[in-house]
Amino acid sequence: MDPLDDVVRLTADYAAEFHRALDDRPVRARASFEELRDAFGVPLPEESSEDVQVVAELIAAAEPGVIGSQTGRYFGFVTGSALPASVGADWLATIWDQNGFSVVTSPAAAAVEDVAAGWLAELLGLPEGVSSGFVTGAQGANTTALAAARQHVLTAAGWDVAHEGLNGAPRIRVLAGAERHVTIDRSLRLLGLGTGSLEVVAADGQGRMQVENLRAALEAGAGAGATIVCAQAGNVNTGAFDPLAEIAAACERAGAWLHVDGAFGLWAAASTRHRHLVQGSNRADSWATDAHKWLNVPYDSGLVFCRHAEAHAEAMAVAASYLQRGGGRSPSDWVPESSRRARGFAVWAALRALGRSGVTDLVDRCCEHARTFAELLGAAAGVEILNDVVLNQVLV
Ligand SMILES: *Cc1c(COP(=O)(O)O)cnc(C)c1O
Repeated sequence: MDPLDDVVRLTADYAAEFHRALDDRPVRARASFEELRDAFGVPLPEESSEDVQVVAELIAAAEPGVIGSQTGRYFGFVTGSALPASVGADWLATIWDQNGFSVVTSPAAAAVEDVAAGWLAELLGLPEGVSSGFVTGAQGANTTALAAARQHVLTAAGWDVAHEGLNGAPRIRVLAGAERHVTIDRSLRLLGLGTGSLEVVAADGQGRMQVENLRAALEAGAGAGATIVCAQAGNVNTGAFDPLAEIAAACERAGAWLHVDGAFGLWAAASTRHRHLVQGSNRADSWATDAHKWLNVPYDSGLVFCRHAEAHAEAMAVAASYLQRGGGRSPSDWVPESSRRARGFAVWAALRALGRSGVTDLVDRCCEHARTFAELLGAAAGVEILNDVVLNQVLV
């Protein structure tokens, strides 16, 4: 018998049981890091072990340290669940063990990404013809988008950063709100721009960038050349949206690249009731979002979109004589990874299972729950709601 038979059966049986019992188990972990470390921490084995035995051991050791974030009772951070269809699809990405590098390494992985990217751009209200990349999360998406931005604004300043690097390059101004997500800062560090290049634009009490301050900063630096503005759709604490239409207008006037970090907030575009929050977002130059948050795709899954395919490819694509890509969109041309997980299967499956109306309902239902949450908790003694609940975030 194929040794995989037992492993797959054990895992499938366990998966079904785990999922059935989710609503009855505590959300929190039952073991501490030290206890879990002890459970895993046998000395490095000298001898090999039965595969199925190893998986059973892993389940036993890990189970007390597994967080019930897939239940409807988990309210931490912006952590998503996982839809059954996307779990199946993600499991298949492992079973097939596809290298999602190119059309040659996996035609299926390349084709499914191409289709899912088109669906997503449509659903999120992005301009036609945007380029896209399937990355690990919004961190990877912010980094990729800002790499494309760096390429584009420096090209306009007569400098090919892909070739010449940053030594001696024209200075890039980066403007971002005081309540930008911390991943923006890491992206700037990774890209050699440094957090020192950041000009922080004041935010209001909900974390929204104050657009008059952005306008003043852009005008004060008029003629400074290469400029990137990072706006946010969905503040991680409050859910608040930067005024994207006004920011877009200011960027267009100043000739600045506008990047929108919409890790979860961009999904408001899928809902007629909440779409007004992202108004103007389609005027941006690049967008970062997550599939592992609101779309409920298993970790890890993020997406980057870019209006300027050329700058995006110049920043990311690899070319080497031994690489034969085959015709069609090559997944790795748009991301910082080479060999990579075939993330498109799970995204495609989630969208195929929900349909447009399913995504709309998902967004509306979460926002409705958030309002109820705030209403009930706000009425309780000793509890204070700290944010205006405009989306899915409730700060207590
Ligand atoms: C979660 C989040 C990120 C980072 O996303 P990862 O998926 O954790 O990489 C970036 N920006 C915002 C606004 C977020 O909510």
